[in-house]
Amino acid sequence: MKQGTPVAIAGAGIAGLTAALSFARKGIPTEIFERTGALKEAGAGLQLSPNATRILTRLGLAERLERVWSEPETINLVDGSSLRTIAAVPSGTFARGRWHAPYGVLHRADLQTMLLDAVNANPLCRLYLGQQIESPNSIAEITGTESRLIVGADGVWSSLRQHVQGAGKAAFSGNVAWRLTLGEANAPVFFDAAKVTAFLGNGSHLVVYPLPQKHTFNIVAITSGADPGKTWDSTLPPDEVRHRLLDAFSGWHPGITGILQTAVEPTTWPLYEVSAGAWHRGDEVVLIGDAAHAMMPFAAQGAAMAIEDAFELASFVAGGQSLAAFADHRRSRVARVRSRGAFNRFAYHARGPIRLGRDLVLSLRRSESLAAEFDWLYGYEPKD
Ligand SMILES: Cc1cc2nc3c(=O)[nH]c(=O)nc-3n(C[C@H](O)[C@H](O)[C@H](O)COP(=O)(O)OP(=O)(O)OC[C@H]3O[C@@H](n4cnc5c(N)ncnc54)[C@H](O)[C@@H]3O)c2cc1C
Repeated sequence: MKQGTPVAIAGAGIAGLTAALSFARKGIPTEIFERTGALKEAGAGLQLSPNATRILTRLGLAERLERVWSEPETINLVDGSSLRTIAAVPSGTFARGRWHAPYGVLHRADLQTMLLDAVNANPLCRLYLGQQIESPNSIAEITGTESRLIVGADGVWSSLRQHVQGAGKAAFSGNVAWRLTLGEANAPVFFDAAKVTAFLGNGSHLVVYPLPQKHTFNIVAITSGADPGKTWDSTLPPDEVRHRLLDAFSGWHPGITGILQTAVEPTTWPLYEVSAGAWHRGDEVVLIGDAAHAMMPFAAQGAAMAIEDAFELASFVAGGQSLAAFADHRRSRVARVRSRGAFNRFAYHARGPIRLGRDLVLSLRRSESLAAEFDWLYGYEPKD
């Protein structure tokens, strides 16, 4: 690692921007290279759990975060055919008390804008837009100097990952995501603005929560789907998206299918995962966020892991520790989160007797005992 020169970061997504702020907090300058010419509003809603908000608070962003998000009182699991509540995990003030940081929901673009504003205001961070990084060498060609370290925060389709021997590979997960929005005024009574609600069904689930800044509810559904390489067409017209979505949700409660018929802006995209593998090349190049470990959204932890990676990377580098030590430290945490996601996938999409068993077990659990299951995840104290 070259001392004295800036750290170069490829990608100004959640991982890249958080890394720039985390390095700046340790007094280390960064240069961030983003391939798009302007960071535009992209993506859907995001749940930010206490392990992520604890870090954003340390980066001085708590007040700004609270202006653009809402804190749900509970996170509810609801049967998608009967609308019966199966379980409720307390959040809101309970989350602040138990995990010493808040749980909130917001639009992904609001988080990105907030991070971007903080980066632009920080004299130690320099952002270059419209710069696509294809290899570690392309950074030296732009800056004319060698970087202290190169951070690949360039997402699931990472170019820098191709330059890390033994890194994981992106592969279609077998699931597709669907996203719609519904104006607050058109929402049915079972869409509760004080809750995050996950409606569960056979082989699919649907998560709903409010985006108060937009006066809408964010609706994200995950179902199984075909390999996009063979039959998927990501440029499907909205009517076709809706048709396929309704097909996937046939048999669900008519209140839900009615919403899927009227909610607007239907879009869909395939979900890809990056398999486990190397995260770094010596002490020169390191991968973080989706570039290192894109995961399924069943535990709602992809952005949270990107934020943890970014913050802890700065701590390891500032403390003079190797990238190997950083990668070992993060890999076990990410593996545990992935296992939790795989468990949720199994439980959320269960059918037949497994589904009945799931509902019975969950309905017998007290809220406190459900919350205790998340202590290792939400109560995580990052290396600082
Ligand atoms: C349906 C769904 C729901 C989700 N819900 C949640 C949730 O509730 N909570 C949660 O924590 N996570 C959630 N996630 C996951 C989360 O959105 C991602 O894990 C997170 O955005 C990853 O951030 P990143 O910065 O690593 O990658 P990205 O956000 O993909 O950013 C990568 C950046 O790099 C740029 N880039 C790419 N290639 C290059 C290049 N060659 N050179 C320069 N720049 C480049 C891109 O333009 C982009 O700006 C969800 C994901 C999905 C699909």
